[in-house]
Amino acid sequence: MSGASVKVAVRVRPFNSRETGKESKCIIQMQGNSTTILNPKNPKEPKTFSFDYSYWSHTSPDDPSFASQNQVYNDIGKEMLQHAFEGYNVCIFAYGQTGAGKSYTMMGKQEEGQEGIIPQLCEELFEKINDNNNEEISYSVEVAYMEIYCERVRDLLNPKNKGNLRVREHPLLGPYVEDLSKLAVTSYTDIADLMDAGNKARTVAATNMNETSSRSHAVFTIVFTQRKYDSETDLSTEKVSKISLVDLAGSERADSTGAKGTRLKEGANINKSLTTLGKVISALAEVDNCTSKSKKKKKTDFIPYRDSVLTWLLRENLGGNSRTAMVAALSPADINFDETLSTLRYADRAK
Ligand code: ADP
Repeated sequence: MSGASVKVAVRVRPFNSRETGKESKCIIQMQGNSTTILNPKNPKEPKTFSFDYSYWSHTSPDDPSFASQNQVYNDIGKEMLQHAFEGYNVCIFAYGQTGAGKSYTMMGKQEEGQEGIIPQLCEELFEKINDNNNEEISYSVEVAYMEIYCERVRDLLNPKNKGNLRVREHPLLGPYVEDLSKLAVTSYTDIADLMDAGNKARTVAATNMNETSSRSHAVFTIVFTQRKYDSETDLSTEKVSKISLVDLAGSERADSTGAKGTRLKEGANINKSLTTLGKVISALAEVDNCTSKSKKKKKTDFIPYRDSVLTWLLRENLGGNSRTAMVAALSPADINFDETLSTLRYADRAK
């Protein structure tokens, strides 16, 4: 990995029924950390990329190289949760074309062995909290769940609040969403119930690509506070970590979905925030490389956080005292070659 702060994974899913119906061929190959994509029009010129993790979830779970939901969580989610306990802000996001497997990786399904990173991370968070037997340490957990659609923010935990929320900046704490519900939770079941309610409230609009294609970014945030009481000094110290878990809007270009009017405008907004996120992440990776060569530069100097609501709100989770992981979801099929190659290039720039 080049930049110290961003871990990058790619994951290829099984064929869906549309791809099977079109008798698609698999154009993705993986070996160790490397992922190769074959151009169906020019199979003699494969392109190979290397990532922190290349997850093969294309064949059946009986295949020894198959990457399960647990493996993805164990590699990425566990490490990020550990960083949160150390006091870092963390961010995990899923990038890719609609239908490529972002929600499956982040949320998964409510079946044994099919839960994604978010429920597994929340479950382990409370396991760790409940295992704590140091009386001087106490914890509190609050969650928020919002959707960013066309640069506007909606509260998924208070769908009655139908209006768009204002994005403001606190002089000390940085960017935040005014009036966004932040609910205290004391168990995994509490979180799971809120997640369910939020997912139901999430806006999805059909496009020609997929019946329930998602045009918005869903940001699930856990604010995790650790308080330590020192009996000798009679003082308490507090460590606050923000864990942001983001299911990004589909990365497909508007023109490939036959979009017109509002759909086209949506596409432009989505592309803008994804492009800005890409720029922010590669800028951070570059700064990391610079600082590791001891050319010290202030991290926030030239990072374009303000160019989209998504990156502005994630500022505290991407730069500075934070750890970031990205999972790029890939379709295996030849018919998606262009979008899959562009996803691989995006992931490659994030390293
Ligand atoms: P996205 O969120 O990128 O639009 P989804 O996560 O909804 O895509 O995935 C599309 C479909 O493919 C869903 O039915 C999902 O269950 C299935 N799927 C995605 N990834 C996997 C995987 N790794 N293993 C099995 N099924 C998957």
